[in-house]
Amino acid sequence: MEPVAVIGAGPFGLSTAAHLRARGIPVRVFGEPMVSWRAHMPEGMLLKSTPAASNIDAPQPGHNLVDYCDAAGIRRLVTDEDIVPVETFVAYGEWFRQKLVPDLERVRVVSVDRRGSGGFELKLDSGELFTARAVVVATGLSGLAHLPPELASAAPDGPTPTGPVSHSSQLHDLSRFSGKELIVVGAGQSALETAALAAEAGAQVRVVARGKGSVAFGAPPWTQPRLRPESPFGRAWSLWALSYYPHPYRHLPPQARHFLVRRVLGPLGAWWLRERFEGKVQVSEVSRIVRSGSAGGHPALAVQTLDGRVEELSADHVVAATGYRVDLAAMDFLGHELRTELAVSRGTPKLGAGFRSSVPGLYFTGLPAAASYGPVMRFVCGTEFASPRLVRHLVGARG
Ligand SMILES: Cc1cc2nc3c(=O)[nH]c(=O)nc-3n(C[C@H](O)[C@H](O)[C@H](O)COP(=O)(O)OP(=O)(O)OC[C@H]3O[C@@H](n4cnc5c(N)ncnc54)[C@H](O)[C@@H]3O)c2cc1C
Repeated sequence: MEPVAVIGAGPFGLSTAAHLRARGIPVRVFGEPMVSWRAHMPEGMLLKSTPAASNIDAPQPGHNLVDYCDAAGIRRLVTDEDIVPVETFVAYGEWFRQKLVPDLERVRVVSVDRRGSGGFELKLDSGELFTARAVVVATGLSGLAHLPPELASAAPDGPTPTGPVSHSSQLHDLSRFSGKELIVVGAGQSALETAALAAEAGAQVRVVARGKGSVAFGAPPWTQPRLRPESPFGRAWSLWALSYYPHPYRHLPPQARHFLVRRVLGPLGAWWLRERFEGKVQVSEVSRIVRSGSAGGHPALAVQTLDGRVEELSADHVVAATGYRVDLAAMDFLGHELRTELAVSRGTPKLGAGFRSSVPGLYFTGLPAAASYGPVMRFVCGTEFASPRLVRHLVGARG
């Protein structure tokens, strides 16, 4: 039988592959295991998600983060007050892969095209061509780093760690900014944690964030309201519904879906980051960045202050911690014809039941599925909802 191809070896790809293998479905899995976490997040980062929300879903018990801690002989990470270091999470993902997806192929998929007789033809960067009866796209954050246009003019050749402007996904070792002045643009956990880590490494850091009160931190677990239901993201009815009942999400009007993906679980620092940030990092809350460029060989930003003045800020380097945008156009491994055939909504694939796209046999999971199944798909805990459902649909579709 032709295999199913899973493109991606982050939490979503590994989880989907484990579920397919458990069903006895032939599967080929491609990608660099846990590369987003290993290479595109800062060294020394701590996960914002709690241990309970950091499990990669498996078809059989014994593969949660706490099981990894036991197997590795390290302190168990269980309560909401336990904080997960990124290095532990990477090692957990690698352990999960060795146990459940041992035959992963560390190869890039260069192209996916539909075959006239049904199924797909894939080309690998090893030069191999092969056919698959179905394809699951689990490429996560890869290639989707977003640089807002107002920062693009300071980086005419695109963001790079050695140029005037980088994207946060390009920085792993922040110690290189020791003794330097750094501007970090953004107000999400990635911006605030990058700023704190760079300050701890000896940089002089300023966060530039849009809107009054935009730099804020969550409440510690022991102060969460007890009468609201628990969810992986804290106690609130809205978070509980989005976490455990994402089914109806794709039936909401498109405006509501796109709005919720951006706003729910939006920019907010983790509760434990506050004391490492406040007093160590300068903050400029502005109404907007008017333009960017360079001054005396350094990147410079003109910002409109909250009271309407225009101020110039400059530093040795600017980090755009401005997140990720799903855009099918950036998934250039999907053949042109396939991309034009796919039903999309604001650049994201429109998904139906079981995470299927409008092209039979083509599935999307993880971040590209967030516009259809809600913000929980942006996080590791989304694997619990996504993987069993996607695989159930795929198996059923086998006929
Ligand atoms: C700074 C930061 C902190 C975060 N912290 C948390 C957190 O605390 N908790 C949480 O739940 N989420 C967190 N997230 C979100 C988290 O990154 C995603 O939930 C998760 O990584 C998505 O997993 P994924 O498997 O979809 O994709 P990724 O982990 O991005 O993996 C993508 C995979 O696709 C592969 N790939 C891409 N293109 C190809 C190709 N053409 N051929 C073959 N393989 C390919 C890559 O090699 C890789 O294996 C954070 C994100 C960032 C940026």
